[in-house]
Amino acid sequence: MSKKPFVTKEQIEEITKTYPTPFHLYDEKGIRENAKALKEAFAWNPGYKEYFAVKATPNPFLIQILREYGCGCDCSSYTELMLSEAMGAVGQDIMFSSNDTPMEEFQYADKLGATINLDDITHIDFLEKAIGHIPERISCRYNPGGLFKISNDIMDNPGDAKYGMTTEQMTEAYKILKSKGAKEFGIHAFLASNTVTNDYYPMLAKVLFEEAVKLQKETGAHITFINLSGGIGIPYKPDQTPNDIRAIGEGVRRVYEEVLVPAKMGDVAIYTELGRFMMGPYGCLVTKAIHEKHTHKEYIGVDACAVNLMRPAMYGAYHHITVMGKEDQPCDHKYDITGSLCENNDKFAIDRMLPKIDKGDYLVIHDTGAHGFSMGYNYNGKLKSAELLLKEDGSVQLIRRAETPADYFATFDCFDIGKKLINKVERP
Ligand SMILES: *Cc1c(COP(=O)(O)O)cnc(C)c1O
Repeated sequence: MSKKPFVTKEQIEEITKTYPTPFHLYDEKGIRENAKALKEAFAWNPGYKEYFAVKATPNPFLIQILREYGCGCDCSSYTELMLSEAMGAVGQDIMFSSNDTPMEEFQYADKLGATINLDDITHIDFLEKAIGHIPERISCRYNPGGLFKISNDIMDNPGDAKYGMTTEQMTEAYKILKSKGAKEFGIHAFLASNTVTNDYYPMLAKVLFEEAVKLQKETGAHITFINLSGGIGIPYKPDQTPNDIRAIGEGVRRVYEEVLVPAKMGDVAIYTELGRFMMGPYGCLVTKAIHEKHTHKEYIGVDACAVNLMRPAMYGAYHHITVMGKEDQPCDHKYDITGSLCENNDKFAIDRMLPKIDKGDYLVIHDTGAHGFSMGYNYNGKLKSAELLLKEDGSVQLIRRAETPADYFATFDCFDIGKKLINKVERP
C-alpha cells in the first residue's frame, strides 16, 4: 500500500536550489478543494461556519486561503488571537475555545468581540471579573464523561479529559449566565480525536443536540449555535479509508432533522472547529538522507528531526514516508529513520519497510500539514524549518522563513552575551 505525495522528485530538486531541506511544504490546490467540499457538505445549514483551529497550522498565508471559503478562527491563546486580529478575523469570526484561561486572554478575546466558549462553570465569575460583564453571546463546553463509543469501538475517553462541564454544571451555568444577561447561547464538545469514520460527527451531534433541547427546556436559554468542534481525522496509514465529508454533513443533517427540528430549534447554526481535517493531508515534511548507520539495527539519519515534527516521538504516531524516485522499488529494507536529537525517541519511523535508501535521497514524510510544524520546539538548540506553499500554478512561495541562530538567541537580547550571540552568529 502506498500514498502518493502531492509533489514530485523533480519539483523537490528545483525547490532545494533555493530552499535547503528540511522544510514543510503545503499544497494550495488540496487545501482549496477540501475547504470547498466541507462548505458544500454543510450548505444545508444556513448559519454553518468552520472556525479553523489555529493551533494546528498557525500560518497566516494558509489561514488566509481558508478565509476565502468563509472560515473563521478557533483560538485558545493570546498569540493565536493576535494572529487572527492581524488577518482581520475579529468579532464573530473568532471562537475563543480555551481552557485554564489567563485573565488577560479573556480580556483580549472580549476586546476583539470573539465568541467566548467557557470551559468551566467557575469561569463565569472569572470572566465577569476579567471583563466587567457577561457577554450577550456566550458558549459552554460540555463533557458528558464516560467513554465515547461507536458500536463497540471505544473512540476516546471524555471521562478522563480535563475539558468541559458535566451535565449538571451545564444546566447550572446556563441559568447563571442567563440571570447575568446572556441572550444567545452556544454549546460545544470535543469528545474524540482523529476519528477516521463517518459516524463520529453524527453521533456527537446527537449527544449535543439532545443536550441542547434539554437545556433549552430546563433553562429557557435561547440556543443559537452548536459547535461540533474538531476531531474529524485523516488517514495517516495508507490502508485507511478517508472520511467522506459529504456523508458526514448528511449524517449531521439527519440528526438535526430528527432532534432539533421537532423541538422547534430548526434555526440553530452548526459550527465546526476542524484543524487536522483542514490541513493535515495538504502538508508534508521534505527531508534528505544524510547518514546510514549499520549497528544493531539499520538506521537512516535525515536532516529533519523531532523539532520539525514531534508526533512520532510524542505519540508514536504513524507518518507515511515516500523515498522520492524509488516509488516503484520493492520495500525490502527495514529501517529506523532518525533525526539528530540526543533523544532515542527522535525517530520518524521504526522498523519501517522501505526501498533501499542512499545518502542524498529525498524523503517525503506525509500528512504533516496539521499539528506538524506548530508542535515543534527547540530542543538541542535545533532550529525550526521554513514553510513553503506549492501554489496551484506550480510555483513555490516562502510563507515562513527558517529560524536562524539569532531567532534562537533572541530572548537573551537584554543581556550582553545575547547581543554577542545575536549579532555575531550567522547560520553557516
Ligand atoms: C485542537 C482543537 C481543535 C482541532 O482539533 P483537530 O483534531 O485538529 O480537528 C478544535 N477545537 C479545540 C477546542 C481544540 O483544542
